[in-house]
Amino acid sequence: MKKLIIGNWKMYPASLKEAKTKFVAIKKTASKLSNVQTVVCPPLVYVSELKKLVTGHRVVVGAQNAWFEKEGAFTGEVSLAMLASVGAQYVIVGHSERRALGETDELVHKKVLAGVKAGLTVVLCVGERERDPDGEYMKFISEQIKSAIHGVQKKELKKVVIAYEPIWAIGKNAVHPASSDDALEVSILVKKTLVDIYGKDAASVPILYGGSVDAKNAWEFLLKSQVDGLLVGRASLDPKVFGEILNEADKIK
Ligand code: PEP
Repeated sequence: MKKLIIGNWKMYPASLKEAKTKFVAIKKTASKLSNVQTVVCPPLVYVSELKKLVTGHRVVVGAQNAWFEKEGAFTGEVSLAMLASVGAQYVIVGHSERRALGETDELVHKKVLAGVKAGLTVVLCVGERERDPDGEYMKFISEQIKSAIHGVQKKELKKVVIAYEPIWAIGKNAVHPASSDDALEVSILVKKTLVDIYGKDAASVPILYGGSVDAKNAWEFLLKSQVDGLLVGRASLDPKVFGEILNEADKIK
């Protein structure tokens, strides 16, 4: 299976011009790599403009969030169906930065169902705020997954990706980076949670690791944590660093 490397640009960069420049630079590297599927998730307002720069399938565009209703009186929102209509192929759902803004498990669940129905590949983010010595965080992660995917049909699983993002390891305020063993433990848990619900077919749902991934640690997560790819925040905004991550991923067969 190709490695799936997703860049979450968060609320950067400040202008469309910069976004286009970064995307073109990333595309230059990504379009040469046959073992990697690259996805760039820019701020919503840039999605359709960057989509126009897509050529081929090796690098495509996704979004970081959207609303679950198809259309309606939801001032300021953009629907998953609208995203699909402008050519987005992926959508991140339940990112911890959105949950911190008040997104509940129930809302995440609605977005997962609507995203799959809209034909998008849903990248469901799960992860604990902190680790406790009794391992309660494992139960927490498993429950997050179960509540979010409840009602997703087995045949729709090919439109689901699970990204394990421990909150303590994300962003510039990360307490410390996660180890490849931390990610391995949870990638096994995610697989078990899915297989318990759907049976062995669920083992093909891609599992990503995200949290302070950079050009130095990417290969270790990919090689040692049994993950199918990476969700990269800050490092995806630097085309040179992101290109190095993509090249590392391409080397792993
Ligand atoms: C993210 O925003 O999903 C993320 C993993 O951020 P960072 O790589 O900057 O920790």
